[in-house]
Amino acid sequence: MFVGGASMSQQETLNLVDFIKRFPNEDACRKYLFELRWPEGFKCPRCENSQYYHLAKYHLYQCTNCNYQASVTAGTVMHKTKISLFKWFIALFLVATDKRGCAALTIQRHIEVNYKTAWLMLHKARSAMGKRDSNYNLEGIVQLDEAYFGAPKGKQGRGTEKTVSFVAVSTAVSDKQAVIPLFAKIKITEKLSLETATDFVTKSIEPGSKLVTDCFRIYSSMIDKGFSHEQYLSGTPECNKALDWTHILISNAKAFILGTYHGLAERHLQAYFDEFCYRFNRRQSISQLFPRLLNACMSAPAFTWAELTG
Ligand SMILES: [Zn+2]
Repeated sequence: MFVGGASMSQQETLNLVDFIKRFPNEDACRKYLFELRWPEGFKCPRCENSQYYHLAKYHLYQCTNCNYQASVTAGTVMHKTKISLFKWFIALFLVATDKRGCAALTIQRHIEVNYKTAWLMLHKARSAMGKRDSNYNLEGIVQLDEAYFGAPKGKQGRGTEKTVSFVAVSTAVSDKQAVIPLFAKIKITEKLSLETATDFVTKSIEPGSKLVTDCFRIYSSMIDKGFSHEQYLSGTPECNKALDWTHILISNAKAFILGTYHGLAERHLQAYFDEFCYRFNRRQSISQLFPRLLNACMSAPAFTWAELTG
């Protein structure tokens, strides 16, 4: 975890003026990442030596002991990037500050890269978001449902060829006895079955949590997996009330996808759900999204265009 030191506090709110003052050029961005990566000062990734030569021309830090050449972006989503850090920072700031999500065309226009590059940068940011959220499981009282996304190819409801996802929201009861949502996960599944439901639940929800579902049979044996379970007869008002937050989330996720990313490819839908959930899960602290997103990008691995589209 590369948090701490002289880096920007995750509590710090950054508006556009602050951003420009703080990150006016490439050097400022690189210095920031250096401090994020090595908050206690340089440490060689190979031998942990703290002395280095700065190879300024190549933006590398060479260990005086073992000669290993480290960079601030090695092993991050920005690994071997040809885009300047200054442009990366602007792109991530735009992503973090637009709560509706940021389209590749917007990034392309603002940082003067081609569409393909902007699109790939956004996918890298989304991948960092998904990776970060995959570190956390839902717990407590968790509403669980499934939803269909994308263009309809057959009849409505279960059994169509639309992309199907599990949708889960952990909830709490407020002082005023209202059920409020805490955190959410949306995960595409190839099909709805006992196996895929069990896989999703056991990988995304802490054992001991209480699952709230309709009476669809695929949710029937979760008690065997260490969960308590409350089931409601599908389609009844009681069921709709018990699963209210999953329904709100599904409808918001559909609006998010339609509003920002017109006609997106189904194969990338999970990445958009990851972005949607990442924003939802941090909706109380949206003004701190930029430093958080930078942190997430520093601890998520890189991938290439070919790996993403191949
Ligand atoms: Zn070394």
